Amino acid sequence: MSPTAISRRHSRQVKIAQFAIGGDAPVRVQSMTNTDTADAAATVSQIAQLWQAGSELVRITVNSPEAASQVARIRDRLDAMGCEAPLVGDFHFNGHKLLADYPECALALAKYRINPGNVGRGAKRDEQFATMIETACRHSKPVRIGVNWGSLDQELLARLMDENSRIEQPASAPAVMREALVVSALESAARAEEIGLPGNAIILSCKVSGVQDLIAVYRELARRCDYPLHLGLTEAGMGSKGIVASTAAMSVLLQEGIGDTIRVSLTPDPGGDRTREVVVAQEILQTMGLRAFAPMVIACPGCGRTTSTVFQELAAQIQDYLRNQMPVWAKKYPGVEEMHVAVMGCVVNGPGESRQANIGISLPGSGENPVAPVYVDGERVVTLKGPSIAAEFQSIVERYVAGRYGDGGAGRRSERDTGRTIPIKVLA
Ligand code: SF4
Repeated sequence: MSPTAISRRHSRQVKIAQFAIGGDAPVRVQSMTNTDTADAAATVSQIAQLWQAGSELVRITVNSPEAASQVARIRDRLDAMGCEAPLVGDFHFNGHKLLADYPECALALAKYRINPGNVGRGAKRDEQFATMIETACRHSKPVRIGVNWGSLDQELLARLMDENSRIEQPASAPAVMREALVVSALESAARAEEIGLPGNAIILSCKVSGVQDLIAVYRELARRCDYPLHLGLTEAGMGSKGIVASTAAMSVLLQEGIGDTIRVSLTPDPGGDRTREVVVAQEILQTMGLRAFAPMVIACPGCGRTTSTVFQELAAQIQDYLRNQMPVWAKKYPGVEEMHVAVMGCVVNGPGESRQANIGISLPGSGENPVAPVYVDGERVVTLKGPSIAAEFQSIVERYVAGRYGDGGAGRRSERDTGRTIPIKVLA
């Protein structure tokens, strides 16, 4: 079944280094480092990992003179490694000063993230915001105006609360807070344009930590402007909770065509892999049919008919194998990211699901003959047997990929089409 097309909201387009964001560009995946930017070696290493995992932009904290002084060096080292990840500088409180004091940092960054709630108070707020926008104009850098629930402009919130209290039927406090987030982003964008930043150099975000609040805020933002929108549930949390909450919130918005870039803000386990947030973001986009990044493994959950761990092990092994191949395969085998591989636990749904995939295997459930039929492009081509089913299946996948996606994509034909059908046989 082909996925139902999602019609995207018509936002204007912003160019960030080699990437277009908004308009008809694909929804981009972003991530953020959690290293101390002053530690250039650690930061370079993590940026390279995030880029390798598929993050198309990487944000780094620029919070101190020590951090700002390392940004150009980090850029140079990445360039020397062939890592083209555009770097986004995350500024709070002292961004105006750091950008002025470290012009090489201002130049090395591909985009500045400015939080209007954290640029200063009173008269200083406008002045410091203007200084940052002027720097962006001078260096032709786009800006994300990134409002956050946890650091909302308190003067603006007080103003809106005050106005709300004077109307006949005042809105609830949470509704006023949501409105304050939207107004903060829109007023800041208008101010940036007044200062001279082109409208096609502005991206907006309004992050909150509640799923329903995020949906409400972004629907309103999308209704009231055509800037590209960066989506993210802030402080999503750890593990499955963070993944589920981010997916629930962003999927609703993406389905409505809202969102031009996304980030999944997962709290890693201690010592955990930061690239997890990139994989989850890609999987959200891929499972929704918006983009394809790596071959998809369709696996059943298993049940009482799968009494051994062979099935789980094979599904995990194939999934890891496919993803690990992608840095090489993406260049060598164009289109391979759209491949579907089914790993099914038994004969109940195994053959049916396997026929729908490019390649599928139906493992023997308990009580079945210990054989595993393999389907290629809908046809049963071989039946595997014995202790090396996993290795045999992996080599069938390898041959299929080379045959179908090799030669620069010219070979996008099935093994049957190319006369390279694997004969039906039982491998003992
Ligand atoms: S395909 Fe078989 S093993 Fe998998 S969930 Fe269905 S019945 Fe259970």
